[in-house]
Amino acid sequence: MGRRAPPGPDRGHHGLRLRPPGPRRRDLAGAPGAPAVGVGQSLSGLLLPSRGEIWVNADEARRWPPRRRFTIGHEVGHWVLHRQPGQQALFCRHTSIHEPEHPPAEPPRDIEEEASAFAAALLMPRWLFVREHARCDGDVETLCETFGTSRAATARRVAALFGG
Ligand SMILES: [Zn+2]
Repeated sequence: MGRRAPPGPDRGHHGLRLRPPGPRRRDLAGAPGAPAVGVGQSLSGLLLPSRGEIWVNADEARRWPPRRRFTIGHEVGHWVLHRQPGQQALFCRHTSIHEPEHPPAEPPRDIEEEASAFAAALLMPRWLFVREHARCDGDVETLCETFGTSRAATARRVAALFGG
């Protein structure tokens, strides 16, 4: 007799699930193995590879939907690119989820940069972004609305694909 999938969260794709925040899951600092964060600092997202779960900061997600999308894309990037057997958890502060308007002069080196590049490519696929960029004559605000992305992430994608 086959095992039935447990009720609750969707198994999602590639064994990865995204759970809605529950009452005890609202604060990422309460995640198993979470690092201490200083006053005024917070965790934006985390990946629990052994459980196949992404957690997203509920407060940030509610206030800034584009950031929520980018953070999820960033954590999916870690899942696809950086997952290691036996790894406990990867925690990402907002400052490590880069959305600066200018890409680095050299290709990404560190895993945070790679995860953010993955998120940008996931949310703003090159072929679609090039087409929409032409349609709106490069208007960043229109592109933000089209892709559901922040101004910083969108401007960065423009710079990465078109220079500037
Ligand atoms: Zn990260």
